[in-house]
Amino acid sequence: MTAAAESILRSGHPWLFAESIREQNRPGQLGELAVVFDRHDRFLAVGLYDPGSSIRLRVLHAGKPQAIDRAWWAARLRRGIESRSGLFDAGTTGFRWLNGESDGWPGLVLDRYGQTLVLKLYTAAWLPHLEEIAGVIAEQSSLLDAPSGSSSNLASFPDLAAAKPAATTGSSQPGSARLRLVLRLSRNIQETARTQFGRTDGEVLLGPALEGPVVFLETGLRFEADVARGQKTGFFLDQRENRRRVETLARERRVLNAFSFSGGFSLYAARGGARSVTDLDISAHALESARRNFRLNESIEPVAACEHQWIQADAFDWLGGNPGCKFDLVILDPPSLAKRETERAGALRAYNKLAAMGIEHLDPGGVLVACSCSAHVSADEFFESVRAAAAQSGREFSELQTARHAPDHPAAFKEAEYLKVIYLA
Ligand code: SAH
Repeated sequence: MTAAAESILRSGHPWLFAESIREQNRPGQLGELAVVFDRHDRFLAVGLYDPGSSIRLRVLHAGKPQAIDRAWWAARLRRGIESRSGLFDAGTTGFRWLNGESDGWPGLVLDRYGQTLVLKLYTAAWLPHLEEIAGVIAEQSSLLDAPSGSSSNLASFPDLAAAKPAATTGSSQPGSARLRLVLRLSRNIQETARTQFGRTDGEVLLGPALEGPVVFLETGLRFEADVARGQKTGFFLDQRENRRRVETLARERRVLNAFSFSGGFSLYAARGGARSVTDLDISAHALESARRNFRLNESIEPVAACEHQWIQADAFDWLGGNPGCKFDLVILDPPSLAKRETERAGALRAYNKLAAMGIEHLDPGGVLVACSCSAHVSADEFFESVRAAAAQSGREFSELQTARHAPDHPAAFKEAEYLKVIYLA
């Protein structure tokens, strides 16, 4: 390995790129545990090998040699779960248990929606380990949920080898005691998963079959998550803390939620006393989900009192084409505008334009909440592009705050820091 790569790994960075590897004792297989030695042939790290990716090795452990076995996986999962303990009360049943590299699980995410766990793989290197990992997840989560005083409900998890999606028994209702584990696969690994491992995106690995979206709680609000087909693992759990801030800013305001998805920000604004909320999204699916989420929370008085509207349109077109529609709070949460480094400059221009258009739709006294989830755009660059739009508008602004990652979405290295949000009044 190159000297540069060695010092990067020593500093705790979790990726070893193919071009940094000097010598291999043999060609590695997908998902093999590969050991990395330093230039003096001493153990440096062990990780998952992926011959098909330029990130050739994803580090599981660096430092002293350790055996990676079932007990090791279990301990590492418990570490992730325990680090979230105390973050949420019973009003929040949807949150992240494992956030990839930053929790020591490179390329793997585990989200919890009530009794439904969603395991999302972003690298095919996990596929040969899937049965073992799913078994460990089932074991650790059922131990955790066992009612105190009783023995664990491990017995409700058949061996993975025998596990077929169970017949529906009505036990998939929210609050049911049986855990379910759903597998999600990033698009780039779906073909390998199907042809080499017989796995499909959205399949239920353990527990009862799915009967549509699952319902979970976030700070007392009820939301549905389409865990089998929805974006990410079915919901944007990463924006929870920003939704909570929006709730505190929404009283008496007319709110535009651009790129609304299933109305996450809108429900918080409604509970916070917004007069009206308008969801704007290109996807009819997302808007239907937002309508169902409003119905799920009708029993909350301010939600019932809030006028809910929706517009299915390209947000750039709509914002540019309807200058007369004014609001008091505009939220802009577009999908990543820079999927690769070469798109960075274009993305910054797009963020600037979007912010400018959002400001155009604000009446005096309004608030702009601008978000970016592009990993290739740094926080400073993004904040500057939004501040520049505010300055160019010729209107007077004050910056309320900026925000980064939610506590259940730790970001332990630079490439993991994607989320940034700026609030301007
Ligand atoms: N704010 C949401 C997450 C937004 S995800 C939350 O807190 O849950 C991004 C959304 O933008 C998706 O729902 C997607 O359908 C939508 N989208 C993508 N391109 C769009 C466009 N050009 N115009 C409007 N919506 C778009």
